[in-house]
Amino acid sequence: MFAHIPPYAGDPILSLNEAFQKDPRAGKVNLSIGIYFDENGKIPALESVRKAERLVVEAAGARPYLPMEGAANFRSAVQNLLFGADHPTLKAGRIATIQGVGSSGGLKVAADFIKAHFPASKVYLSNPTWDNHRAVFEGSGVETTTYPYYQDGQLDFAGMMDALSKAPARSVVLLHACCHNPTGVDLSAAQWTELVKLLNERELLPFLDLAYQGYGDGLNEDLFAVRELLAAGGPFLLANSFSKNMSVYGERCGALSVVCPTADEAERVLGQLKFMIRRNYSNPPTFGGQVVATVLNTPELNSLWHAEVDAMRTRIQAMRKALHEVLSAKVPGRNFDYFLTQRGMFSYTGLSPDQVDALKNDHAVYLVRSGRMCVAGLNSKNVEVVANAMAAVLA
Ligand code: PMP
Repeated sequence: MFAHIPPYAGDPILSLNEAFQKDPRAGKVNLSIGIYFDENGKIPALESVRKAERLVVEAAGARPYLPMEGAANFRSAVQNLLFGADHPTLKAGRIATIQGVGSSGGLKVAADFIKAHFPASKVYLSNPTWDNHRAVFEGSGVETTTYPYYQDGQLDFAGMMDALSKAPARSVVLLHACCHNPTGVDLSAAQWTELVKLLNERELLPFLDLAYQGYGDGLNEDLFAVRELLAAGGPFLLANSFSKNMSVYGERCGALSVVCPTADEAERVLGQLKFMIRRNYSNPPTFGGQVVATVLNTPELNSLWHAEVDAMRTRIQAMRKALHEVLSAKVPGRNFDYFLTQRGMFSYTGLSPDQVDALKNDHAVYLVRSGRMCVAGLNSKNVEVVANAMAAVLA
C-alpha cells in the first residue's frame, strides 16, 4: 500500500539540529537553529512567562474549543502590541487578526488565503530567505519567485527596488520586518520609506514576517516597517511570532493580521481566514496563547518582559563584539565588521559549505551550510573556541 511512498529528505536545519543532539563530543556548539540560548547555553524560561503560566494554571477551568480565529484577549493584545491600542486604523476596525499555530501557522493560513483569493499573484521572496518560506507558499499551491536582497556581503537595495518595480500589480512581496533571516542585514529607515512608496505606487501587497521582534533595536523600535506601512494606509499582511521573544517555541504562539482598506473588507477577510482555519486545524490551542495574552495584558509582566527581551538582545550584541574582537586578532587580513553591523540572531559568515563542514567535522561547531550562524548560541564560555575554530578553517 505504501511501497510507492518516497523517503523524506528531512528539513536541512532541523536535521542538523538532530545531528547535533547525537554528537557525543564534549564542548560541541550549536549555532545552527534559530533559538536564543542564554549565557549557560540553555533555552531560557522567562520570568514574565513563568509568572503568567502560574496565573493561567490557577485560573484554568473547563477547556472548550477556542473560536476558529483564536482567543479574543490574545488577538486584541497582539493588535495593541503591533499597531498601538489607539491607532486610528485599529479603532476603525480595519485590521483582521487571527491567533496562529506559531507564526508558521499564520503564514500557512495566509498562503491558503492568497491561493484562494489572489490566484494569479506570485509571492516575491528575498534571495536568500528562510528556507521554509518557499515551502509554505508552494505547499499551498502559490507560485513563488525571488527579488535580489544580498550581494557581496551587503544589502542589494538597488537590485531589490529594480526587481519590485517590475513586479505585476497585486503581487505579494514578503519582507522581513527586522533581523533578516538568514543574513542579519536589514533595510535602513530611509530605505523602508522608499520601499513602501514603491509598493504603494505599484499596487503590490506587502507581507511582513516579524519573527524576531525585539532582537533588532527593541520591541517597539522593531515595528518601524509596520508603522511605515500603516502610515501609508495599507493594505498589508503581517505574521508575527512569540517563539523567540517570549522563548515559547514549543507552545506555537503567533498571529496573522491583515490590514484592510475598510472595516467591511476586514470583516470579510476575517471570515475567509476562519474558513481556511476550519478546514485545516479547526481552532488553535489554548494554553500558550493565554500565557502570551497574560504577559501582554498584565502591566507588571509586560514591563518585566520588555526588560527580559532587552537583556537577550544586549547579550547577543556583546557576543557579536567578542567574536569580532577575537577573530580580528586571529585573522588579521580579513574584515569581520559584518558581525557588528548585522542584526538579530543571525549572521551570514561568508564561510563556504566546505568550511562549514570542516567546522562541524573537525571542531564540533555547527552552522547552516549557507554559512548562517545563530549568534545567540554563543556565550562567554564558547566564543573563544568558536573564534579559534573559525580562524582555523579560514586559514
Ligand atoms: N519566519 C521566520 C523568518 C523564521 O525564522 C521563523 C522561525 N525560524 C518563523 C517565521 C516561524 O516561527 P514560528 O512558527 O516559531 O512562530
